[in-house]
This record gives sequence, C-alpha cells and structure tokens, in this order.
Amino acid sequence: MAPKKGDFTELEKKIYDAVSQGKADEVKLLLKENTVKNVDFLDDTGMTPLQHAAFRGKRELCQLLLAHGADVNSTYHENGYTALMFAALSGNTETTRLMLEEGAKVDHVNSVGRTASQMAGFVGQHQCVSVINSYFSRENLKHYTVPQGLEKEPKLTADLEVALLKMINLSNLNPVKISLIIQDYTCVLEKSSNVVKVLDHLSEKYMKARETNDAMAMKTHYMAVIIKNAAKSYQEHKTLDNWIKRLVKGRDEDGFSEIQERLIRQMLREFPYGDSQLLQQLVRTLAAVKIGDSPSGLTVLTQGINGHRMTFDADDICGTCGELYAEKKCSACKMVRYCDARCQKLHWPTHKKMCSMLAEEYVRIEKFKKEEEEKEKAKKEEEEIQRKLSESKIQNGDDTAEAGDITTNGEGTTSSTESQDPSNTTKEVPETNSVPPVVESSS
Ligand SMILES: [Zn+2]
Ligand SMILES: [Zn+2]
Repeated sequence: MAPKKGDFTELEKKIYDAVSQGKADEVKLLLKENTVKNVDFLDDTGMTPLQHAAFRGKRELCQLLLAHGADVNSTYHENGYTALMFAALSGNTETTRLMLEEGAKVDHVNSVGRTASQMAGFVGQHQCVSVINSYFSRENLKHYTVPQGLEKEPKLTADLEVALLKMINLSNLNPVKISLIIQDYTCVLEKSSNVVKVLDHLSEKYMKARETNDAMAMKTHYMAVIIKNAAKSYQEHKTLDNWIKRLVKGRDEDGFSEIQERLIRQMLREFPYGDSQLLQQLVRTLAAVKIGDSPSGLTVLTQGINGHRMTFDADDICGTCGELYAEKKCSACKMVRYCDARCQKLHWPTHKKMCSMLAEEYVRIEKFKKEEEEKEKAKKEEEEIQRKLSESKIQNGDDTAEAGDITTNGEGTTSSTESQDPSNTTKEVPETNSVPPVVESSS
C-alpha cells in the first residue's frame, strides 16, 4: 500500500517548511532534536522532502536528508518524478551527481516515459544530461573489490574504490583537478600499480565490448596516464606538490601550460587502440594545431569525451583547475576566479606576473562600462528633451493666438511634465560593481 499523501504531523510540517525555504541549518536542528523515523513523508503531490531539496538544487540539504535515510528512489510523486529527475531539472550538477552517488536509478521513467536525462535535455540543462549520461556507477568496480583467481587481496580496497569512482566520474578533465583528487586520496599513489591495472582493464573492456565506448576507454586510459605520472613524481619527492605545481605553471607571456598540452598529446600517442574513431578524430584535430594555439589539447579532449561543447569561456571557471562555479576571486585584480584558497595559492606564481596588468584592465573595463552607462543616460535625457520640445511646439502651434484656454492645455502639460521628467530615467541605470567575494592573494 502506498503511504499517505499530505496530512503532516506538526514536526513533519516544520521540517517540510524549512526544506521548502532551503534552510539547511534549521532542518539539521529539527532532525537532531527529534527522533524522526521517516524523512520520506509525502506532500499532496507525493513529493518527499529530499525531492523538494533536489528540485531547489540544495546539495547540502539533500545530503542531510540522505544521511537520515531518505530514499533516493522514492517514486510516489503523482507524475512519477524521482529525486534524480528533480535534481536534473534544477540544473545543479553537484546535486545531480550526489543523487547518482547515492544510487539513483538512471533508467527510471516518469509517467510519460521519460528518463531523468531526457527530462534535463528537454529543459536545456545540458550539463546535468552530461553528468547523468557519463556517470560511472559503483557496480562497474564491483569485480575488482573481491579477490580474483589467485589473488589474496582484491585490487581495490574501499578507499581506492571511492577515489576511483570520483575520478572516473569527473566531467572536468583538467589534469590539475584530477591531480588534486589524487592528492586528497594518497592511497591511489601508494597503490598506483593496482589502480592503473584496473583502469587499463576497464579501458580494454570498453574497446572490446560489442558496443564499443571510445569515450570511456579514452577517459580511463587518460586517468591511468595521470596517475602513473603523479605516482612517479610522488615517489621521487614524497609529496605531490611538485607534480601539481608543474602542471599549473604557465608560460610567462600568456599563462598557457605547455606541460598539460604535452601530457595530453603524449596520452593520445599511448592510447593502445589505434582503430578508435575518437582517437583518430582527436589526433587529426590536434595535428593542425601548434602547441600553445587554440584549441588546446584539453579543449579537444573534453569535447571528444563529454560529447558536447564545454563552456571554457564561462566567467566563473577556476583559473587553476577548471572547475565551474568558482566563487572566489583574486582580490587584487578581481579578474581571475578560484574554487578556494588552495587553487588560488597554486596559481599565484603564474598569476602574479599578470595580476597587476589584469588589475589595470579591470579598472579600464569598469571605466568603460561606466562611460557607456553615462552615454546611455545622456542619450535618454536628450531624447526626452527633444520629445518635450517637439510636444510643446505642437502645443504652441495649436494656440498661437492667446494664452486663453489654460484649462485644456494646462492639464496636458502637467501630466506630460510628470511622466517625462528626465530625472525619472535614471532609475533604470543598473548598479555597477557589486562587491565580489574575495580571497587574499598570497604574496
Ligand atoms: Zn579550482
Ligand atoms: Zn590577480
């Protein structure tokens, strides 16, 4: 029997309201102070609190509810929508990814037969479509988490499994981002030969399957190459800092990282499946591009693997690791974004050479914006004056004779002056320079 819809208890109502308003702290407190056996109570439409949080793209809230046992695959919604569908509709890729990590079923369909991926595509949330379609589930690694044949131990321990899932599921293929994850999971470096074996095996599987998946074969090969390089540097220096710093280091003139470019081209040369169409296409494209010119190897690879154009020119992309939605800015120039202080610090040796130049450019851009706004304002004012002038000319022409009928004319003039007061037009001028969030630039 399906659970009841609507008709909340007092506590459920409180939780529901806090979730609807996106108040994670309040929900946290309510769940902490009360024994809530079931966080999957349904509203009139059959939606659970988790689904509401997902629809609002509130990752933290979703995480909280999931930690309290929320069912990621609840399907009591009147149109058969799941939490994954709601997350995908919200356009928030991190919330979407969270649902997948929590075991959301990707092939579930709603009441009109659409999957979450199809729904997201329908409303133009292409980033979410890409997250869902390229998601590599835990199931794919199961084979490696139990000893095979004569193995005494499985190739993947639990921590390696987590790290590998995270890496393979990245849609951001920037080698710095991948290396930062490796740095967070040093087990990958300590057991690099196991991890590389698993990745090579997966790559082969994707190429030899009845329906080959070049993109996944290439992606797993790429991860293996980065891990091999990182592990080598780690063995030599006992830290991964050197490797990451080398990757981030850009050319003096434009900050372009030649090492990343060479790494990606080398990786393509080492891809063992020469008949792969994707490989041939990437090699053809890059053969015509000189190192340092566009498109970069990373751009070409990302498009090839993710199957769509990535927004490399988005203005909220991290200058170090390429993550989207980077919220911090260099406080000195306000022209480069970063995920956090870690990314900013890594980039500083390269960025400091152009920070002051960018700061000047920022001032120029702001000045230009202001001038344009003032020009626009002056133009509007001029138009208003012209209009008033021509109107009063018409009025004057009408009663050239005497200043007699004040009543009729007077009325018209009053109302027109009121609506055409030039000072009214300034209201629409947007506020420039909203204060950006900053990180301190290290010196
Ligand atoms: Zn970053
Ligand atoms: Zn700067």
